[in-house]
Order: sequence, then structure tokens, then C-alpha cells
Amino acid sequence: MRAAIVKGGAHGATTKPFNELDLIRWIKKHHSGKSRDIILGIGDDCAAIKPAKGKVTLVTTDTLTEEVHFSRKLTPAKLLGAKSAAVNLSDIAAMGGEPKYALLSPCLPKGLEHGWIKDFLKGFHETLKRHGCILIGGNVSSAKDWISVTVTVMGQIAENRIVKRDGAKPGDLIYITGTPGDSAMGLDLLLSGRKPGDKADKYLVSRHLSPTPRVEWGRLIAEKGLASAMIDVSDGLALDLLRLVEASNVCADMSLESIPLSVPTARTLVSMKEDEGWRRILNGGEDYELLFTVHPKKESLLKKLIGSGKIVASKIGHVTDASKPAIRFSYSSGRVLKMRQYGYVHSL
Ligand SMILES: [Mg+2]
Repeated sequence: MRAAIVKGGAHGATTKPFNELDLIRWIKKHHSGKSRDIILGIGDDCAAIKPAKGKVTLVTTDTLTEEVHFSRKLTPAKLLGAKSAAVNLSDIAAMGGEPKYALLSPCLPKGLEHGWIKDFLKGFHETLKRHGCILIGGNVSSAKDWISVTVTVMGQIAENRIVKRDGAKPGDLIYITGTPGDSAMGLDLLLSGRKPGDKADKYLVSRHLSPTPRVEWGRLIAEKGLASAMIDVSDGLALDLLRLVEASNVCADMSLESIPLSVPTARTLVSMKEDEGWRRILNGGEDYELLFTVHPKKESLLKKLIGSGKIVASKIGHVTDASKPAIRFSYSSGRVLKMRQYGYVHSL
């Protein structure tokens, strides 16, 4: 099937059309990589890879669809490429794994500029490379109107080090990496149509458009056996925490004021109605931070790693026992924040 056929466009004049075969050749030439464990990469019916001794393979996939996950007008191609890799790398991080291989399957509308596709691939490739991951295959298709990109990432880990969602126990402490809420605030800023003005605005927008998969932190947490359960925050802290407590059949008692906020997000929160602001932070999604639970006996080791700058994480609550999994977000005054909904759920 023909992929995008292109002449000229916003990214500069191009003379040759890009069809499926051209694009695959381009990807093979510029964006594939070599490793001892790759027996066959791009160019055959399947890729062939050697399984790593003593490790199991982690596999995850995610799709970004135009007008559902992103707007072409608001998202530079290179950043979209980076993000389509990052969201999958984040899932590997959430299990504590080491990313190894990726498959890329874009559906591209006819008439998409050459430059757009090249920029997208550049962002995608750079992000994979940064985390030691190699593109080994995929599929290219044309689309009617909208871009959609499906990426599959494979990672590896020793079987006894896999960190799942279902291991949280009453008494465990709840930690989160980084500063949640930044991505939601950045998205709101972009959607408002206001041009990002100062450094703070630019920071928030960059946290939305270029999330950082916490691969190194996830691996460290798994290697040291620190977490009893872990998940990455893709659909909002509240919903992903709910997934963790439901899988573990426990409850979570959360302290709102303990949730670490960046200065720009804290400043935005002050300008909003308090409850509304917190709901936005908790439901916003796309933070790609790691949310994990820690047995109290392991906390001193975690604090050591935090103290030495090896990981950035904060305690935001604790796990409790109850007959039915639930979460309570409360202020230090004791007032409980009412949650009308949890995070972002696609309606089908
Ligand atoms: Mg996930």
C-alpha cells in the first residue's frame, strides 16, 4: 500500500514522493541499529533476536492517534516521534525492565510533508537510542486523514526482579517520582491558545510535549528490590493509583500536600480553586512518572538513593487495609477531596 505521497510543504521543498518502499528504505538506512543479539533486523518478514540468558522478555504497545492523543498543530513532528517512543519506554520502566527493541507502525495520510516524517523519525530514533533501544521492524500504511502511530517496545529483566502492580501490602509507603501535574498544566496552556511566555510556561509545555520515561529510576528500583508494586502514571495519578490498589486489593490514604509540585505547577494551582486545581493535577495524565509502594523496612535504602541524587521521589501516602479497594486524598486539615471521576478513560 502506498504511504504518504509528498511534494513540498511546510518543511521545505522535496522533489521525490515518499512511498512505502522509499520510507522503509529510509528508515533502514538512517534509523536501524546493530547488536549481537539481533540476528535479523528491518527487511525480512520478521525480525529475529536472541533471547537474553537468564532474562524474560517484557512486551508493551501503545498507539498515539491524531485528535485523540495529540493535535498536529500543537505538536512538532520531532516531539511526537520522541513521545511515541517515550510512552512505551515508560511502560518498560514501570516493570523495572531494560528496553531493548522496538517496532514502529505509522499510518500516515497522503500528502504529509517529507520533512514532517523525517523529523518524526529523528525524534523517535533519538529517544530510543538514549535508552539503549533499537528499532528492528514495523509496518507502514497510508491513512485517510489522520496520523496514528503504534509502537511496540520489548525489554528484558530477570524474572524474579519484575515489579508488578499487585504486590502492595497494608503498611507500605506510597512514593512517586518527579513532579506530577506538569503535563496537565502544560496541555491546558497549549489549549488556551496563549503563547508560552516565560520560562515557567515553557517548562510546563515541554513536560507535556516531551515527557521523560523514567527508565533508569525504574531499573534501579527493580535492581534494589525496593518496590512491592509499581505503575507508570499515564492516565493520571488518581486512576493509575486506583489500578494499583485494585490489583493489590488494598486501599490508599494520600496526603495532598505531600504531592511534590514543580514551582510552575504550584503557581498555577494557587490561581485555581483549590479542589479543582488538585483534581486537575490528579486526573491530568501523561506525567509518565513512576508510582510505587515500598515496605517500611526498605525505606531507608530508598532515602539513601534519594539523598545521593540517584533517584528523585517523594512519599505521598500509605497503603491501608479495607474490605474494598479505594483511595482517599485528604488535606492536612483532614478534609477529604471529593473525586468525581478518576483520570482519562477512552470511551469506545
Ligand atoms: Mg503503563
